[in-house]
Amino acid sequence: MIWDREAETASAEAAFAGAEAAWEAQLAGLPGRSPFYARKLGQAGAAHARLSLRELTRLPFTSKQELKQAIDEEPPFGSNLGVAPERVKRVYQTSGTTGSPSVLALTEADAEAWTAIGSRSYFAAGIHRESSVLSTYGAGPFVAGHTYQAFGRIGCRVVPVGPGDTERTLFALRAGIADTLVGTPSFAQYLANRVEQAEPSAVDWPLAQVVTGGEPGGGIPEVRDHIQRVLGVRVNEAMGIGDVAPSLFGECEQQQGMHFCGQGLVWPELVDPDSREPVAIESGAVGELVYTHLTREAMPVVRFLGGDLVRIEGTSCGCGRTGFRMRCIGRRDDMFIVRGVNVYPTAILSVVGGFRPRVTGRARVLKVGPGVSIEPPVPVEVEVPESGADAALAGEIEAAIRTVLTFRAGVRLVPESQFGEAGYKTRLTVPQP
Ligand SMILES: [Zn+2]
Repeated sequence: MIWDREAETASAEAAFAGAEAAWEAQLAGLPGRSPFYARKLGQAGAAHARLSLRELTRLPFTSKQELKQAIDEEPPFGSNLGVAPERVKRVYQTSGTTGSPSVLALTEADAEAWTAIGSRSYFAAGIHRESSVLSTYGAGPFVAGHTYQAFGRIGCRVVPVGPGDTERTLFALRAGIADTLVGTPSFAQYLANRVEQAEPSAVDWPLAQVVTGGEPGGGIPEVRDHIQRVLGVRVNEAMGIGDVAPSLFGECEQQQGMHFCGQGLVWPELVDPDSREPVAIESGAVGELVYTHLTREAMPVVRFLGGDLVRIEGTSCGCGRTGFRMRCIGRRDDMFIVRGVNVYPTAILSVVGGFRPRVTGRARVLKVGPGVSIEPPVPVEVEVPESGADAALAGEIEAAIRTVLTFRAGVRLVPESQFGEAGYKTRLTVPQP
C-alpha cells in the first residue's frame, strides 16, 4: 500500500489507537531484547511498567551519543541490537558529521517499515507511479539510499545519478528522461543558478517538480521561489532522520509544510528545546521533535532526541491527510546565540536569498570558540558569482541582517570557486579552529 489512505487520513483517536497497540507490544519486549533499554528503563524505574503512550513522558530521552555508546560497548551492532545478529539484513553507515561514523542495522521487517513510511512520504510529495524520477541520492552507504526502496515500491521510473553530478543531471533533464528531480536544496539551487543565464529554455524542460531533502532549504521562500521560477517546477520538501526513518515527512501539493507520514510505526512528540518539557503539536508551536519507533526490531529507539527544530504549520489539510504539517527551522547543532537571542542559520539564508542574482543563495556562519554564543559582529560568509566585484553588497547584506534579525553581522563575500562543493549539503555553521 503506497498511499495508506486509511492511516493517513485517520482521526486523531484512530491514529492513537493504532499506535498504542504497536507500542504495547514494543514496550513489553524491550527489556528482554535490548540490554541497552533494559538498563535505561531500569534506571527510570520503568523496567516492568506497562506505560501507555500517553505516559511516554515518564520515560527518559535517548540521545544520539547514547546510541553511539551502545555500539562502542558491544561492536559491531551494540547492546541495543534487539535481535540475533543473523537477523540483521541491511546495514547503513552514518556520515559521522557529529562524531565518528556509526552503523544502523535493520531486520527485514525494519527495512519494510522504512520502505512503507518512505513511500508514503514521497507519494505525499508528489511522486507517483507515472513519475520519472531523477535521484541524486547515493545508493549507499548512507540511509538516503533507502529512498530507492521507496521509489521501487511506488513504481515510478528511477534515473539514478551520483550526488553532485551536474553534467549527467543536465543531460537527463535536457533529454526529457525525468519529470521529477530529487536532491538537496543546495544542489537544486546550484542547478537553477547555473541554467538561469545560460539556458533560459530550462523553464520549458519536461521537469515539473523538484523534491528536496537532506537539509532545510526547500521550505525557505527565497530558495523555493527561485528554483520554481528558473526551472518552471513545483518544489516540495521531504525529510527524515537516520536513526528513526530516513523519509518520514512529505509535503503535499498544497505546499504548506511537510506531513508526518509515520502513522502506526513512529510516534512523534514535540518538546521545548531548552527545558525539554512537552509542547502540544498544534498550529504555530515551535519545538524539537522526539521520536519513538513503535515496531523496530534491531536498534529500537524510544524518545529519541532528533535535534530538528520545527514549527508546526497545521494539523489538517486540503489533501485530506491528518498527519501534522511542519517546517524545519534548523538543526539544533546549527543554532547559535547572539546577545541572548537564539538564531538559526536558515534565517540568514532567507535574508541573503533576497539579494539574488548578486548572490548565489548559499551562506554560512563561522563559529569561533567552543560555546554556542557568538559575539557580534557575527562572521557570515556569503557565496557570490565568480564575475565582478560588488563593493556595496557586503554592507547591504549586513544592513538587511541587522534590520530583519536585529544583530550585527560581518559579511565576507566568497566567490563560488572558493566556497566549496555545491553538489550535496551545505554546512550552515562552521566551527573555526
Ligand atoms: Zn496536505
